[in-house]
Amino acid sequence: MIIALKPGVSKEDINQLIADLEILGVKVDSSQGSSQVVLGLVGDTTVINDDALRANRWVDRVIRVQEPYKRANRMFHPLDTVLEFKSDQKAAKIGGDFFAVIAGPCSVESRQQLVAVAESVKKSGAAFLRGGAFKPRTSPYSFQGMGCEGIDLLVEAKKETGLPIVTELMEISQLELFEDVDMIQVGARNMQNFNLLKELGKSKKPVLLKRGMASTMTELLMAAEYVMAGGNSQIVLCERGIRGFDNFTRNILDLAIIPALKKKTHLPVIVDPSHATGLSWMVPSMSKAAIAAGADGIIVEVHNDPEHALCDGEQSLMPEQFNDLMNVIRKYADIEGKVL
Ligand code: PEP
Ligand code: MN
Repeated sequence: MIIALKPGVSKEDINQLIADLEILGVKVDSSQGSSQVVLGLVGDTTVINDDALRANRWVDRVIRVQEPYKRANRMFHPLDTVLEFKSDQKAAKIGGDFFAVIAGPCSVESRQQLVAVAESVKKSGAAFLRGGAFKPRTSPYSFQGMGCEGIDLLVEAKKETGLPIVTELMEISQLELFEDVDMIQVGARNMQNFNLLKELGKSKKPVLLKRGMASTMTELLMAAEYVMAGGNSQIVLCERGIRGFDNFTRNILDLAIIPALKKKTHLPVIVDPSHATGLSWMVPSMSKAAIAAGADGIIVEVHNDPEHALCDGEQSLMPEQFNDLMNVIRKYADIEGKVL
């Protein structure tokens, strides 16, 4: 349930109303919108008498939210959430008017590989460096990532380039290794790992939450709600393709979920055209489509030697191709009124 208060309500009146509601056993979060204060009620709201609430002189509107997610709901938080990260240049931001490009290899493979890719994507204008250290692989015989050593190399690359780093966490026990990681990725395969989500809710780290390959939009938003319910609202949602019946691409890029999510939630939404298509030559067209559909950013795989990549070479752009893509993205982002 959401309660919009009238402009001009005093702090005392807000606190009194919150106290009256909390006596009934619901939890109340208040949020300052551009012109009014909005209260979001979580818990069993069936005990609340809507008519009595509407009679309160400071209550403007009472809305019964159909959706099961509240904190992620745009009705509760009308303004776009913008995440801000420290960077050696200007602060890197995602959401609102800010478009973010996250680029780097699928997996960290060596110091030489990571430094080469990190420097090139930085030069081309990427705002974040990605790279997997712990890799969720379908086969136990495939490269599983460099683990802790991979995290150390990412942190080194961050020191050298100044780019904030994004990498995947698969296991709660590894969270302490992510101290210097700027944004923790929850991969598609872990989108509904509720224990992991709850633990990230307690953390202060921004979370990049990827859509599960067979998850609905509501399930994605409920996964975000898990993290937010724990007190962490720094979340970026990512559409990375879902399973379909055709296999001409690795997954099916669900572009329609971008405007749908932007309508339902205030959280930033980015697109992963690399995992969505599995084909590097499709990445530029799908990146342009993502911007046109209203995305707040893209996450793209880039490798300096895709033919010999230990993971996802076929979908990885060469540094020169990524540079060309950035030149196109700048124009498209400009048309959409986004700041890169
Ligand atoms: C990745 O980003 O490298 C990855 C494994 O992504 P996803 O979880 O979307 O498959
Ligand atoms: Mn990959």
